[in-house]
Amino acid sequence: MHKQLLLIGLLLLVLTVQGQNLWREGEMQVRVYVENQAQADFLKRSNMIGEPAGAFIRCYLTPDELLHIRQQGIRYEVEVDDLNKMSASMGSRGVPNGYYTVAQLHAIADSLEQNFPDICKVVHLGFATGMNELKAIKISDNVHLNENEAGILFDGGIHGDELGGPENLIRFARDLCYGYNNDAQITNLINNREIWIYYCVNPYGRKYMTRYNANGVDLNRDFGYMWNGEGNSSGPFSQPESKIYRNLMLNNQFVIHCSYHSGTEYISYPWSYRAQSTPDAQHHLMLAQMYSQSSGYTNLPYGQGYNGMYAINGSTKDFGYGALGSISWTIELSVSKQPPAAQIVPIYLKNKAAMLKMVEMAGYGIQGVVRDSITNLPIPALVFVNDFMCVTNNPVVGDFHKFLPGGSYTVKVVAAGHQTRVYENVVVQDNQATTLDVVLPRDTGRYAWRVISTHIAGNNPHDEGNTMGALGPPDNIRYSLGKNGYAIIDMCDTLKPGNGPEIKVFENDQTPENYMVMAGATPDGPWILMGHGTGNQEFELEPSGLQQARYLKIKDSGTGQSQIPDAGFDLDAISYVYRPATDTSGIIEGFTYIDWNVLIEKAPGTEIYYRDQVVYSDENAYFRFQADTGSFAMDAIWEMYGYANCPVHLSPQQHLYLNIIMEWMEPVETIAANNSITLYPNPGRDKVAIKSLTNNPLLSLLLCNAQGAVVHRIMNPQMNVDGEILLNVSTLKPGLYIVVGIDETGKSASGKLLIQ
Ligand SMILES: [Zn+2]
Repeated sequence: MHKQLLLIGLLLLVLTVQGQNLWREGEMQVRVYVENQAQADFLKRSNMIGEPAGAFIRCYLTPDELLHIRQQGIRYEVEVDDLNKMSASMGSRGVPNGYYTVAQLHAIADSLEQNFPDICKVVHLGFATGMNELKAIKISDNVHLNENEAGILFDGGIHGDELGGPENLIRFARDLCYGYNNDAQITNLINNREIWIYYCVNPYGRKYMTRYNANGVDLNRDFGYMWNGEGNSSGPFSQPESKIYRNLMLNNQFVIHCSYHSGTEYISYPWSYRAQSTPDAQHHLMLAQMYSQSSGYTNLPYGQGYNGMYAINGSTKDFGYGALGSISWTIELSVSKQPPAAQIVPIYLKNKAAMLKMVEMAGYGIQGVVRDSITNLPIPALVFVNDFMCVTNNPVVGDFHKFLPGGSYTVKVVAAGHQTRVYENVVVQDNQATTLDVVLPRDTGRYAWRVISTHIAGNNPHDEGNTMGALGPPDNIRYSLGKNGYAIIDMCDTLKPGNGPEIKVFENDQTPENYMVMAGATPDGPWILMGHGTGNQEFELEPSGLQQARYLKIKDSGTGQSQIPDAGFDLDAISYVYRPATDTSGIIEGFTYIDWNVLIEKAPGTEIYYRDQVVYSDENAYFRFQADTGSFAMDAIWEMYGYANCPVHLSPQQHLYLNIIMEWMEPVETIAANNSITLYPNPGRDKVAIKSLTNNPLLSLLLCNAQGAVVHRIMNPQMNVDGEILLNVSTLKPGLYIVVGIDETGKSASGKLLIQ
């Protein structure tokens, strides 16, 4: 952007902020007493903004909306008759005396990072409305690494005028840092968990004492899972704050997610959008009870959000649970939204022990790392445990974590391009973690990975709303989109146009219904039509004109009824073809050899993997196949001894003669997890430090791209006194890399590195 443009932009922004009311014109804070179901339904239907606060619902109403309430004969009591006037009277800082400003919260976060650099990192997440910076604190040992540890997220301040959350969280961050190596419980938790503290989600609202962000949107109605246009939200994840928050959750797989509000004292867990309980309801109940009992509240009640009398769509908790399988809830800290400053510390101290308890509990249940059987590297996976909400793993580290109490469980692991595995009778003890590391052989199927957003106009309580039915291979378990409803789905891989269809949508039932398929490169679109379909149907990416897409939006065509079971198109699965090139007219042929160090001989029966295919060299070690054109890498594997990775560039019509010479290698099984490479910071940008856990000096270091092609090779890399090799990665393109080190004993070790 030009400097002048930036200046004009800033000027406009200042003018907008000053000229705009922070609340809607005439908006009031009103206690609404709901005395029967008809009144509750009326509130729900009219999409008024409010939250349960014990015996009443605290609503934010314009004079027009209040008139409707009065006409319905609903009892109410006005608490604040002009919110704009009240927030203006709070003074230039916008918040009462004794509370930290947003700048002070950031300053405390920064000082914790400076003073505790080994365990505390401040992560810049992006910019909120009003040019406000968004930051989160990560606390863990090896804080610059994403490790195989359970993650937990605490957030606060999504409603800017609810002041308790940020105060509570910044004190918790400080106590964790000070407690490291001083307090055994805290030290143990920091060593074995990844704790994220997102202390001020809506800094604009916090600065100006309003519930909303600078665009007047209630961010806790803007989340995509069962989004329904409440709280002035114009679309799922329409705001920068909610997009950034979503990305934090998509990238970090939190086992537990606690979102702090104030205005009552209550723990409210999913669902908030529907009356039926969740598949994990018993686990939510168990942990909420534990939080309540570990806390210092005389009585901290808990229950399902919807049945706390007030239904909402588009909440953070329904997204955290419905899309990602986290134990996800809101905790209302205090009856007053702005209690006197003298109460800030007592409120925090009521919560501290319960927060530590949740950090501990996040590590219990089933966990593991999912790897590819050939490279032994982590792969993205989808993990189902019984009928509970499924979870995804971290694609870089490969680890998954699902909270479960003691019991015996069935675990199903699905990964693109790999065989699905089912493990029966996996036993978990109470307050312990069972580790189930999974190594998957390659196969061809690739399917939808996770649901990011869904919308069913006005909800459909007659259908079970089983969004995870759309994931994984076809299994006759379906998610019904609802009349005119849609689902936005993350396919995990990038789809690229090629010969033939790229995806197949499965309905697999006796009553094929109509729908349309759109593609997008981001979870926010823009959505471009691939085509219309009925029942099971294949689609090509070409009509959209997109060169790549990772997200699909499947939308029901709007025929049929809305308030019945299975309303709308019934989505069983979406398969896709991993096809990075656009032409298959190339041919590759040659012989396969094994290099035994002293002699080279032919290696008949070598498996050659390229993209989704596998071909074999024959009894004379000869192979020939027709291949997609473009750049890709082939993996050649001979029994347990030979391995080669061959980057290839094949032009249309090209006939490539290529002899593959495999290096003798130790079987991959001996490259154990504890014999891997540590990389930090990861993701990295300019310089990355590499440390081999074998403790032997490395002879050579290979940097491979995600396809396995070597892009950089260093012989005899120099180590510093800490045993680290510093690597300049500033010239590398952003993306995923695999770092392979080979030490003088011939042992190799590897790790994944993300360059930003
Ligand atoms: Zn709130």
